[in-house]
Amino acid sequence: MSEPSGRLVLIVEDNPANLLLIRAVLRRGGFETAEASSGEGLRRELRRARPDAVLMDVRLGDEDGLTLTRALKSDPGTAAIPVVAVTAQAMAGDRERALAAGCAGYVCKPIDTRTLVSQIEAVIAATPAARAGEVERQ
Ligand code: MN
Repeated sequence: MSEPSGRLVLIVEDNPANLLLIRAVLRRGGFETAEASSGEGLRRELRRARPDAVLMDVRLGDEDGLTLTRALKSDPGTAAIPVVAVTAQAMAGDRERALAAGCAGYVCKPIDTRTLVSQIEAVIAATPAARAGEVERQ
């Protein structure tokens, strides 16, 4: 169990079992978590607190996580938040589509619980705004 880092990851996931797994892994890794299962929930959570990263399921029922990502990236208030796409299968072109939508990274289901925390940490560390915030906190 890691010490809480004060870093917040917003998990956008419509599958309850996946959400429970991701939440458990991230909290064990020292992250705080917020959760949404739809675009409406995503917007609600973004108004509530600015996450250090968003973990975005690509398939959210009728909604498309990459469309939600493009909307987040086109809003100056949220554009700097790094988004990591989560997709059910490594379809040809999925990685390219995720990166083209503005995602900073990409993970496949089933989630690799051994590497998820380090992947999110790497994405946050590579985000200029996050590094600046880290310097301020020291
Ligand atoms: Mn889904």
